[in-house]
Order: sequence, then structure tokens, then C-alpha cells
Amino acid sequence: MMEHILTVFAILGNVVILVRAASDPWNYTDQSSWSQMSGSQCSGTNQSPINLPPMVEMEYSNNLNPFTLAGYEALVTGPVISNNGHTITVTFTNEAHITDGDLGSRFKAAQFHFHWGNDNTRGSEHTYNGKTYPAELHIVHYNTKYPNFGEAVSKVDGLAVLGFFIEVGPIHNCNFGPVVDALSNVQMNGNRYSINTTSSPFKLRHLLPMQLKDYYRYMGSLTTPPCSETVKWTMFRDLLYMSEEQLQKLREVYFDSSKTQPMVDNWRPPQPRNGRRVYISFDVKTSSAPGAHWISSSMAFVLLSFYCLVL
Ligand SMILES: [Zn+2]
Repeated sequence: MMEHILTVFAILGNVVILVRAASDPWNYTDQSSWSQMSGSQCSGTNQSPINLPPMVEMEYSNNLNPFTLAGYEALVTGPVISNNGHTITVTFTNEAHITDGDLGSRFKAAQFHFHWGNDNTRGSEHTYNGKTYPAELHIVHYNTKYPNFGEAVSKVDGLAVLGFFIEVGPIHNCNFGPVVDALSNVQMNGNRYSINTTSSPFKLRHLLPMQLKDYYRYMGSLTTPPCSETVKWTMFRDLLYMSEEQLQKLREVYFDSSKTQPMVDNWRPPQPRNGRRVYISFDVKTSSAPGAHWISSSMAFVLLSFYCLVL
């Protein structure tokens, strides 16, 4: 996630940081060397991702009320999709905030990005009771008590990430169309592309599952160097869906700038929980696993199309 951060720095006007990005190489093949990087917390005891344990090992908390989203329903403005050599990141110029959900403060959305596998058997960073998903979406937010992302990233209450498991679905998820369609423009490391919001409008809210009140919460870290242990993690119970073709489009970009290393398996495996508690916002007696209530998932497929129509 570090290079995502550096991109945000650049947008905030700190061009010097971009130079550091170029001299701060790391990759997913050799993750054991992450902890040797300067300022790294990658060998710390509160690392992410984690395996979310079975429901009975999680703790219900009635402080985990539904999030209040602001600006998520607006059309995204100035979206820029980037290949930073580790993932595909989308930044935007509109303001989107989250409050409640026991965050204790207001957090501003800085960017979203994905992690995915070489095939559908793997790709997510978090796992649920040992189960992995083909991909995972992260929406990175920083605490607005700090002036910008760069200030917030090193603070213990600096970041909040909303994470979503992505499962392969039977139909095209048109809500991801504007992002997936733009992938062909950012196939190489360093590529950036402005998504045309006239021909491809989208809203952050429509990228997410309809139901957001059921989620898991724990304290963790960035999942990329420097693995800062400053993230309040929220993983949602309801799944997102992409078609096989859409997942394949993600696999058709490259880590490098000469199109020799396909960008696949850009995920970090679950890290030791070291006694950290995982809290859940919903009553365990009515639940089994992420996305287990198939009726709402089926309805989601129907309504996905509807979302596109009403945009
Ligand atoms: Zn991430």
C-alpha cells in the first residue's frame, strides 16, 4: 500500500515524495525482505491481513453501529486510475467521508485499489475461516483530525480501511465497468489514465454491497511496506461480485513497464493475530459466513443492473 500512499502525497502537491517511490522497490515475490526496509513495521505484532476466525471466536460489539457515508452517493469527479507497480489504484477529487461504525472520528476517502490472484482459487488478502476469495477491494480513508494522508499514516488512529471480499459472479458487474474498462490504459507500471465521467459515470456507493451493517473489526496495519500499524480495519460480511471476464481484465495488467511480469497474486498472506480480538457488528446466532445468506446475494445480482440504470 505504500506506493498508493506516495501517489496520494503527489496529489497533495508533495512532488519530492514521488522520487522516493522510485527508489523504494519491493515486490510480492520476496515478502520476507519487507521487514528490512527502512522504517518498516512489517515484522510487528499487529499486522494485516489476518484470517478472520470462525464466528464463535469473534466478539459481538454493540458499539459497531452502521457507518454513515457522506459523498458516496455523488458521482465521482476527476477519477484517475493508476498502475503503481503493485496494484491498480483509483483516486478522485470529490469528497467522501465515513463516520460512526465506532471509528471515533470522521475519515476521508483517499483512494481505492484491488488485490487479486492468478486464478480464482486465491487473491484476497484477508481470509474467512481459512477461505480465500479471488480478489479484495480496499477503500483507504484517513482521519480528518490530521491535515492529510501523509500526516495520518504514522498516527495510531490515522487510517481506516473498508475491505470487501470479491467473489466470481455469474454476470458482469456493471458498477465496476468504468474501472475495469479503463484497465487497458494502465497496463504498465507508471501508467495513469483519467476516466471519462461523461461516458463512464460512477458512484463510490455503487461499487459496494447494498448492505453494509454486518462487518468485522480489528486493529491492524497497511498490507504493504512500511506495514504501518495504524489501520482500523473493517471487513464486510457481504461479498462483491465480478464476472470471470472482469477478473481476467485485472490479470491483464503488468507489474513492470515492459509487459513481462503479469500483475497477479499481489496479496500478502494472513499474518499472526497475536491475541488480537476480532469484533463483529452482528449477532452470531443469525449468521454463518461471509455472503452466506444467498437470498440477499441473489437479490443483489438483480439490483446490480438496477443500480446502473438509475445512475
Ligand atoms: Zn490493499
